[in-house]
Amino acid sequence: MTPHDSISNTEDSPLCQAHIIDGRAESVRILDQIAQNIKSRERPPCLAVILVGDNPASHVYVGQKIKACAASGIKSVECRMDEASRFQDIYAVINRLNQDPNVDGILMQLPLPSGISEAEQSALIELIHPQKDVDGLTTANIGKLMAGQRGLIPCTPQGALHLIKTVQSDLTGLHAVVIGRSLLFGKPMGQLLLSENATVTMAHSKTRDLDKICAQADIVVAAVGRPRMVKGDWIKSGAIVIDVGINRLDNGKLCGDVDFDAVRPIARAITPVPGGVGPMTIAYLMANTLKAYELRLLNP
Ligand code: NAP
Repeated sequence: MTPHDSISNTEDSPLCQAHIIDGRAESVRILDQIAQNIKSRERPPCLAVILVGDNPASHVYVGQKIKACAASGIKSVECRMDEASRFQDIYAVINRLNQDPNVDGILMQLPLPSGISEAEQSALIELIHPQKDVDGLTTANIGKLMAGQRGLIPCTPQGALHLIKTVQSDLTGLHAVVIGRSLLFGKPMGQLLLSENATVTMAHSKTRDLDKICAQADIVVAAVGRPRMVKGDWIKSGAIVIDVGINRLDNGKLCGDVDFDAVRPIARAITPVPGGVGPMTIAYLMANTLKAYELRLLNP
């Protein structure tokens, strides 16, 4: 049981506001733990980040990742490549990093420029050595997750599960609804919840009566990319609501996939956007880099 296990929002206390799960504070704790762990190592783990092109959001995300490396004592190497880079150019860089014994983790910031087709992007992801695949996106790592074997798991679902468990440590028998079935998030999230013995419903754009399905859930995880899609009357009193969506509004502000103000009086706990799942993704990228380093020590 965690200290939050006793928090509940019941029909007897309708005016109660949900606990806001602070992803920023939790991510700082994780980075501190990683920094402590690394202090005793012979050399720091090293993360190589491949950034292709001029996408402004990608530059911001890579900047945040490099900053987190510094905060956790991980060495970072940036491989910046021109917008006009071709498949073969990126292929050569990944090959070099795969063979470099001083590189533990390789992250290729997505999306790649439009000159690289989806099939080429998939082939490049697949080229990353599974032991260095800190995004957990190669089929080898996806297969390990499905099989319950030790591998590298995508960062955002790990971060989302961590936040759920700050509120409710035992998920056995709880009904979790995951909205969104992407390879990057929804599918691995469903798998992680299943491995915690939750009963998992995967929802997507073709799901019927999504509001009614969500209304039965103890945990709702939304990863769609539609601003404030999940309404207050979709949520069961006392549910845990995890908002993964990042949407930029016309006024420049960010919002999630959950109507925060409408859901907060009903839920037991909720993540904000920004400041919820986002910082945890970066913290788990650092955790994955440390894990990749350890996996390579075991299997050089
Ligand atoms: P994605 O690949 O576009 O997948 C979106 C999913 O939502 C799809 O499975 C789609 O269903 C489903 N969907 C679309 N419209 C729907 C509807 N009306 N009802 C129910 N489901 C619907 O997106 P993603 O990469 O998973 O990302 C989702 C969101 O999370 C985005 O806002 C993204 O920016 C955010 N995100 C945040 C982080 C973070 O660090 N915080 C990390 C990753 C993603 P179909 O499969 O049927 O098309």
